[in-house]
Amino acid sequence: SVALYIVPTPIGNLGDISSRALEVLNQVALIACEDTRHSGKLLSHFGIETRKTALHDHNERDRAQWIIQKLGNGEAVALISDAGTPLISDPGYHLVKQVREAGFNVIPLPGPCAAITALSASGLPSDRFSFEGFLPSKEKARLDKLTALKDDPRTLIFYESPHRIVHSLESIMAALGEEREIVMAREVTKTFETFLSGPVAEVLQTVKDDPNQQRGEIVLMCHGHRSDEEAEFSPTVINTLKLLCEELP
Ligand code: SAM
Repeated sequence: SVALYIVPTPIGNLGDISSRALEVLNQVALIACEDTRHSGKLLSHFGIETRKTALHDHNERDRAQWIIQKLGNGEAVALISDAGTPLISDPGYHLVKQVREAGFNVIPLPGPCAAITALSASGLPSDRFSFEGFLPSKEKARLDKLTALKDDPRTLIFYESPHRIVHSLESIMAALGEEREIVMAREVTKTFETFLSGPVAEVLQTVKDDPNQQRGEIVLMCHGHRSDEEAEFSPTVINTLKLLCEELP
C-alpha cells in the first residue's frame, strides 16, 4: 500500500537482511538512500532494480516535500541508510515527521541496529539504557556531556569512530572514573567481531597496546552509575563476610 517504509539493512553481515525487507525494497516505486552509490552495491547484490534517490542530512528537508508528492501520486517509497536502522544516528527524522504531518502512513520494519545488537551480548544491564549517539569530537564538549551522565543509573550506549576511540576512552575515564565498567563492541556481525570488557582503565590500555583494536566500527557501552547500596561485591568479599558473620556471637 502507499506508505513510507523504514527499512533497516545489515550492519556488516549480508545474511541479516530480512525477507520482508527484500520484498518491500523490490515492490516500492522509489528507494531513498543516504548514499545511492553505497546502497547501490547492497541492492544489486540482492538483484533489486528499484529506482533510487539520495536523501542525506543536507537535502533532507527539500527532498521530503518531493517524496510527499510521490506518495500523493500513489507511489510507495522506502527509506534506507548506509547500514542499520534509518534515523538511528542516520538521516530520516525530518522525512518521517513531514510525511506523517502530510497524513501518509509510515511503516517500520524491524532489523539490524548496532546499538541494540551490541547491548544484547554485552553482559551489561539491559533493563534500562540510554542511547547517546556519537560523543562530541571536541574534548571540552565531550567531557561536559560525560560529566552530565556521570550519575545516570542506566547503561550508556555510544557510537564511536575508530580514530577517536582512544580520546573517548580517556574522556570516559576522566569523567566517570577509571573503575567504571565498560564494554567495547567492535565489528559486530563481521569477521573480526570483538567484545572487550572491564574497568575503562584496563580497556584503554588494551586498545592503546593493540592498534587492531583501533580499527573498524565500534559501539561503546558503560555500566550505569551504581549507588553505594547497589554496589556489587566480588565473591571473595562475600565469602569473607559470611565467614566473619559465622564468627559473630
Ligand atoms: N543506523 C545505524 C544503526 O542502526 O546502527 C548506525 C549508523 S552510525 C552513522 C554508524 C555507527 O554505528 C558506527 O560509527 C559505529 O559506532 C556503529 N556501528 C555500525 N555498524 C557497526 C558494527 N558492525 N559494529 C559495531 N558498531 C557499528
